[in-house]
Amino acid sequence: MSDFINDEKLETMLDEAEPTAEEIDRIIEKSLNKERLSLEETATLLQADKPEWIEKIFDGARRLKSKIYGDRVVLFAPLYIGNKCINDCEYCGFKASNQDVERNTLSEEQLRQQVKAMESQGQKRSILVYGEHPDYDADFIADTVETVYDTTEGNGEIRRVNINAAPLDVEGYKKLKDVGIGTYQIFQETYHHETYQQVHPSGPKSDFEWRLTGLDRAMEAGVDDVGIGALFGLYDWKYEVLGLLEHTIHLEDEFDVGPHTISFPRINDASGINIDDKYEVNDEEFKRLVAILRLAVPYTGMILTAREDPELRDEVMEFGVSQIDAGTRIEMEGYTHADEEQNLDKEQFEIGDTRSLEEVMYELVRDGYLPSFCTACYRLGRTGEHFMEFAIPGFIKRYCTPNAILTFKEYLEDYASQRIIDEGEKLIEEKLEEIEKEDIKTELIEKLERVEDGERDLY
Ligand code: SAM
Ligand code: SF4
Repeated sequence: MSDFINDEKLETMLDEAEPTAEEIDRIIEKSLNKERLSLEETATLLQADKPEWIEKIFDGARRLKSKIYGDRVVLFAPLYIGNKCINDCEYCGFKASNQDVERNTLSEEQLRQQVKAMESQGQKRSILVYGEHPDYDADFIADTVETVYDTTEGNGEIRRVNINAAPLDVEGYKKLKDVGIGTYQIFQETYHHETYQQVHPSGPKSDFEWRLTGLDRAMEAGVDDVGIGALFGLYDWKYEVLGLLEHTIHLEDEFDVGPHTISFPRINDASGINIDDKYEVNDEEFKRLVAILRLAVPYTGMILTAREDPELRDEVMEFGVSQIDAGTRIEMEGYTHADEEQNLDKEQFEIGDTRSLEEVMYELVRDGYLPSFCTACYRLGRTGEHFMEFAIPGFIKRYCTPNAILTFKEYLEDYASQRIIDEGEKLIEEKLEEIEKEDIKTELIEKLERVEDGERDLY
């Protein structure tokens, strides 16, 4: 597998981009027609620095979001399984040389307790997170996935388990495919070779290429939902956006399917962190990068995490974020100690959004979003083809919106506070009104009644 990120090529594209108002309009139009942008077109948007150009880009991203995605937002929660680590990533509280952090791996019993605590809040989707350590090999990861699927609490169940862990070999990914993982996520952190070497001085993660090709091996093993990401703040944000796009194009070229999701975390404070602020991404730049990514890859899910504070999260959601985590606890055993303050000696980094799932749900509903815990595509085997949502006319109206409403209704029945029930039932009524096709509406009303009568997991 060849190393497909060419730093010089990406830098030159940024240098040579010459934005004009007409060109920006043309590029945004292309994106609104659901076509992925080229590297050159994306470089043009990245270099569009004038305030009126930036406004055009924000507006384009908003239009794309409402045209394609509507007001659905999928919710999930991360679960930290183990924080032992043999790497020394300069930005991470779990790095091997950090003696201040308490090292733990959840036992099976502790894992079940965390899962039950998440389920009793109403979570249905989780991403399991692991340090890189010989203890956390593919067999161990597979066992933990099985435990999560197998742990239920009342009506609660985690229906989709995603993974954020170190890259594996093909055999390792096959084991995870066999236990039914959803997405396998690996963040390249930075696509800039020199910076990569600086911030990953030792351990297996110092091998840029092994990490870069990690998702190719996942695809070869048949795990066709993969997630990419860059950690913003290590190098020039504009370069990293092009890196993410080049990675996307590579996966499309090799496997006919791009990434299922793109993540764009910014560096947050962490215990023992050693990063200068030269490339720190401010809020304005962050908004630009989210909007430009949305336009560059119109059909890919975009994940915004609780690293960001609630105000900024609200602002960038309208640029096309499709998934957020909510009720997040990232310290070990955090879901059974949910009332405790954040403690940097226990967690990987500090999070900005510490709201509970209840608060996030309430605010989403109040702001007109439709929270969704839908896992239907993955459970029906529709993986690796996520952009059929966009390619097949009417797919979202026929499947995604009704499934979002059904999973939201389950939440109202099983977990919601009175204030969410009051707002939520109104929201469902409004959404039903908006459904034009009578057959879809009738089927949905019938299923909503079945949920009221106690049935679950209808899709
Ligand atoms: N250990 C595995 C790895 O490095 O790929 C997987 C889990 S790691 C705990 C998840 C991600 O957290 C990393 O890929 C990195 O992008 C992000 N991260 C690490 N330190 C961070 C920090 N200080 N602020 C924000 N995100 C951070
Ligand atoms: Fe370990 Fe991942 Fe943290 Fe690096 S980012 S130190 S690999 S947990």
